[in-house]
Amino acid sequence: MIAEHRHLVQQGAKMVELRLDYINGEVNLRRLLTDRPCPVVVTCRRQRDGGKWPGTEEQRLMLLRSAIAEGVEYVDLEDDIAASIPRYGKTKRIVSLHDYRKMPENLAETHARLAALDADIVKLAAMANSSHDNLRMLELIRDSDVPTVGICMGDIGTPSRILAGKFGAPFTFATFHHERTLAPGQLSFQQMTDVYHYERINADTTVFGVIGDPIAHSLSPIVHNAAFARRDINAVYVPFRVPREHLSQFLADAPALGIKGLSVTIPHKETVIKKLDDTDESMSGIGAANTLLFENGKIVGYNTDYRAALGSLKPVVEEHPGLRGDLAKHTVLVLGAGGAAKAIAYGLKQMGADVVIAGRTAQRAQQLAKALDCRTVDWANRYSLNPDVLVNCTPVGMHPNVDATPYDKHHLRPAMVVFDTVYNPENTLLLKDARSQSCTVVSGVEMFVRQACLQFQQFTGEEAPADLMRDVLKRAIGPARY
Ligand code: NAP
Repeated sequence: MIAEHRHLVQQGAKMVELRLDYINGEVNLRRLLTDRPCPVVVTCRRQRDGGKWPGTEEQRLMLLRSAIAEGVEYVDLEDDIAASIPRYGKTKRIVSLHDYRKMPENLAETHARLAALDADIVKLAAMANSSHDNLRMLELIRDSDVPTVGICMGDIGTPSRILAGKFGAPFTFATFHHERTLAPGQLSFQQMTDVYHYERINADTTVFGVIGDPIAHSLSPIVHNAAFARRDINAVYVPFRVPREHLSQFLADAPALGIKGLSVTIPHKETVIKKLDDTDESMSGIGAANTLLFENGKIVGYNTDYRAALGSLKPVVEEHPGLRGDLAKHTVLVLGAGGAAKAIAYGLKQMGADVVIAGRTAQRAQQLAKALDCRTVDWANRYSLNPDVLVNCTPVGMHPNVDATPYDKHHLRPAMVVFDTVYNPENTLLLKDARSQSCTVVSGVEMFVRQACLQFQQFTGEEAPADLMRDVLKRAIGPARY
């Protein structure tokens, strides 16, 4: 613990919580506290509050009293013991309440009860069961007279940890190692500093983010936050896990959370359309939005997937000897019939291509083909065509199933352009096979970076640092495997 403490201070931590309940065997407080490299919070959590303390309650209270006698900067006292441990010396009192099941019904009342226990800081940590809980907690932080650390636990609650500084919390909690989370939804100190630049977040910080379910895997926060830092823009990009049934409430909450723009991913790209006040023309044709802007009380939707996909294909089409810059009358086989397929097929139709959809679920493929006035081919018969361009819009080949491909190598011909929208890994099996068959290839990384750049421009009105965003994405998905 002493070694981790020193290491964190070297990384830039200004205060460290010492979780005495994680120490095996007898706790040597003096050894832990002598020459401590930064202020500490001493906490010794019972098992019923999510901690690991194996000893008796008397021993625990004795330890907390000893920490106060040693003059630690902060001590964490749960609400039921706070009254029995009096204030002494300079040690400040964090009066805390943890609920691993749900948020208290009446947050303000609970907060007032904790504050009345001679609290210098109130700490409330409760499981978020709805996206709305983040706003409830953050508004409580903002409106409290006593400095308050309010945490929504679970991955729905992660935004409350990141946005704490914007709403006036004195500090937030992070774990010292990303593989050793001490509470659900916790981020590591390194993620907080290197990805979210927590110390830059203040009341004026503009909030952007991505909504989806699940969302933890999203690489958009890494890419967008790096771009904000590079352009020195006071903004943060947050992953919001929003289950389907919470979408309307979340969009209603967004302005109060300080949100000015959002990326949209599975499963909201299509359903979100019904909630918009305005759309651009292409988006109504596609029927799916991946970008929202909150402007003058209105929500406006855009689709940067479509422009990014066509932007990625265009230079290749222009240089390809068989296509010579024109997709008109050339056959493009689109694998998949979901959101990405919709956007890309729409764009390809605009370019005059003969688009054929091959979908695993025939009915979904037929619906899409009908909407766009194009053809379908049964998934099982996808090799019966001889397309000029093949576009994979299924997740087949995506991490961790990197040994899968949606199109057998032996059906790839050297004259084909093969575009895989999957971007993790960059070099999917489909692209490796296509290269080995001398096809021309376009990677999902190119499309991802382009759509992120377009979003960045819409969010900020500034040109995106595309090279940086590409580098950051490539680093996040690991080394290229050719
Ligand atoms: P989606 O709406 O869920 O659609 C996925 C499509 O793939 C559906 O038609 C689905 O068929 C089909 N599919 C899923 N598993 C399959 C399998 N094992 N075999 C055959 N077909 C299968 O998802 P989406 O938003 O379109 O995204 C699809 C892919 O595009 C993802 O891998 C994502 O990484 C990629 N993408 C990339 C970018 C980028 O910037 N590079 C942007 C957006 C999306 P059913 O209809 O039968 O379910």
